[in-house]
Formats: sequence, structure tokens, C-alpha cells
Amino acid sequence: MNLKKTKTREAILSILSNSKFPLTADEIFEKIKSNGNFTLSTIYRSLFSFEIAGIIKKEVSTDKKSVYSLNTPMDKHVLVCVKCHKKVIISGCPYHEANKKISHETGFQIIDHNTEIYGICPECLKKGEK
Ligand SMILES: [Zn+2]
Ligand SMILES: [Zn+2]
Repeated sequence: MNLKKTKTREAILSILSNSKFPLTADEIFEKIKSNGNFTLSTIYRSLFSFEIAGIIKKEVSTDKKSVYSLNTPMDKHVLVCVKCHKKVIISGCPYHEANKKISHETGFQIIDHNTEIYGICPECLKKGEK
């Protein structure tokens, strides 16, 4: 591993740990490109090796893009409005009890679930009522 790659990896990890929301590779690139000699392809490569190592997780967002977030034991969820794409962080895990029930009923060991929960925000609901 050369120095440049290490720099990219460090930059990506710091961006992801400071971000409230999962980010796409493009968004990560936008945030770090001014700090050094980064290219989108090295970012993709680093993201891939992080994913393999279980350091980050990759999910598919509402607009069908791959988004990345740190794979922390702290479970957090994001409510996404399907109309205006507003995002709201919710604390705690609504799946916690549900996963236990699913495990019990199916014999599956649940190891992961999607971070995003989809809905329609109060503002969009109001607009819809008019
Ligand atoms: Zn909305
Ligand atoms: Zn959860």
C-alpha cells in the first residue's frame, strides 16, 4: 500500500465519520478533492476494500445510487421523504424488537437491515391535502 492510497483511505474515513448521512462515492469525492490528489477511481477502490473489510457498508438509496456509511455498532436510521427527499435522523432502532421476532419465527440470524426508512414528510402530506 503506498502513501497516496493511505491518504485517500484516511480522507474517506474522516468524511464518513463526520457525515450524518450515508454518502455516494461522488459526494465523497466532492468533499475531499480539494484536499489533495484524489481521483474518483481510487475512492471507489478504497470504498471497495473498506466494504470487504467490513469497515463501511454499502446500501442503495431512494434514487438507486450506492451510498456508503461507517459500519458502526451504533445503529442509526434515516427517515427519507419520497416526495421532497428530505432526510431526518431518528434515534434508536425501530427494527430491534422486530428482528428478534423474525429470528425467532424464521431461524434466521439477522445481521443487517437498511438504514433508510421511506415515507412522506408532514410538509408534503399537507401539500397533498390541498
Ligand atoms: Zn417531503
Ligand atoms: Zn436499526
